[in-house]
Amino acid sequence: MVMKGKKGVILGIANKKSIAYGIAKACREQGAEVAITFLNERFEKKLAPIATELECGTRLYPCDVSKPEEISALRESLARDMGEIDFIVHSIAFAPKEGLSGRFVDTPKSAFGISMEISVYSLIEIARELRPIMSDSSSILTLSYYGGVKYVPNYNLMGVAKAALEMTVKYLAEDLGRDGIRVNAISAGPIKTLAAAGISDFSFLLKWNGHHSPLKSNVTIDQVGNSGMYLLSDLSSGVTGEIHYVDAGYNIMGMPAVNFDENGKPTIAWNGE
Ligand code: NAP
Repeated sequence: MVMKGKKGVILGIANKKSIAYGIAKACREQGAEVAITFLNERFEKKLAPIATELECGTRLYPCDVSKPEEISALRESLARDMGEIDFIVHSIAFAPKEGLSGRFVDTPKSAFGISMEISVYSLIEIARELRPIMSDSSSILTLSYYGGVKYVPNYNLMGVAKAALEMTVKYLAEDLGRDGIRVNAISAGPIKTLAAAGISDFSFLLKWNGHHSPLKSNVTIDQVGNSGMYLLSDLSSGVTGEIHYVDAGYNIMGMPAVNFDENGKPTIAWNGE
């Protein structure tokens, strides 16, 4: 039981397809005690059965990260119900639809601001506001994607947000490192979730990644969950500021593998099947 005695809060479970749910499950399986959050009343009802399954008890709290008062209230609730915490999972992102398709040059200023606030600044704010209740060897984990490093069709505004998020991880890691707190990200391969459904042509992206990754597959929330659990546990006590890829190896590919037909002609064409 790698996480026995550890307590933490997981933000970003929308349903059982969420990456955060995979991480929560892996942490519970290894003995951790977890609290989870929901965005608004509509999601509270949806999350109640998941909270029961994860044995959260009453530790199901509201937290819309765009509302500073809800982050402070979360700290108070956690302090009351759990005392100190040992880990935080930030699995939250948002970009308005107009930031996830079309020409990047047309990105509206308002969409840029919202996306940065929810997907990036919230990590800084959560780290700062929950710091007083974090134990001295705590671990913070967030979720990124390859589209923050290289161009990926339609990822547009979220790609810029993920680039900012990855640097936020590094600056936070240096800053909080002096308090013994580690900060890491998992860059997950594409997974069909609610958030992913907002990205135009996502199903093609999924097929492309599965076909061209070294492991010839896409990753699951269980695989990301287990890697996330490792980064939250003491097994990774020497790791901070890291962007850890859990993507079936897709990020190492410079170009798709080339096959040759019987005449020695390269066959790289792929129609998505
Ligand atoms: P998801 O299940 O839809 O989770 C996204 C979560 O963000 C939801 O729980 C959503 O809450 C929450 N959220 C949005 N705005 C919020 C706000 N203002 N305050 C609090 N919570 C808010 O999708 P997911 O794919 O698991 O996404 C989790 C993270 O993984 C995101 O950072 C995403 O960019 C990243 N990621 C995803 C993939 C992928 O292919 N799926 C790959 C790499 C990285 P509601 O649902 O209640 O709105």
